[in-house]
Amino acid sequence: MSSIDTQRFREALLEERRRVEHALATLRDEHPGSLDEEVEEIAATSDNHLAETATATLGREIDYTLGENSGEVLVQIDAALKRIDDGTYGTCTNCDNEIPVQRLEAYPWASLCIDCKRQAEH
Ligand SMILES: [Zn+2]
Repeated sequence: MSSIDTQRFREALLEERRRVEHALATLRDEHPGSLDEEVEEIAATSDNHLAETATATLGREIDYTLGENSGEVLVQIDAALKRIDDGTYGTCTNCDNEIPVQRLEAYPWASLCIDCKRQAEH
């Protein structure tokens, strides 16, 4: 048996899920256009366009990253909730080692231990 308090992580996952869904909905409402259009628009209308372009790009990059990753995070959150139901939550899906609780607190949807995660990234 695992010593992990899955109820706590279930709540954290459900809350994160709501947050991501809300962020995705907000993104769709507030930013229907593409980044390219926005940058071109500012560049065409502003004398000081370099600085403003950089600002717009920076702000959009953060949103864009969120939008790009949010769908993936939602999938991982759902998978993690399923692992709680299955009783396999907190166990690395690759090597069956326990995932450190500190890692789960940072990433409640983590499915890999740190070693496997590192390997997956290389
Ligand atoms: Zn592992």
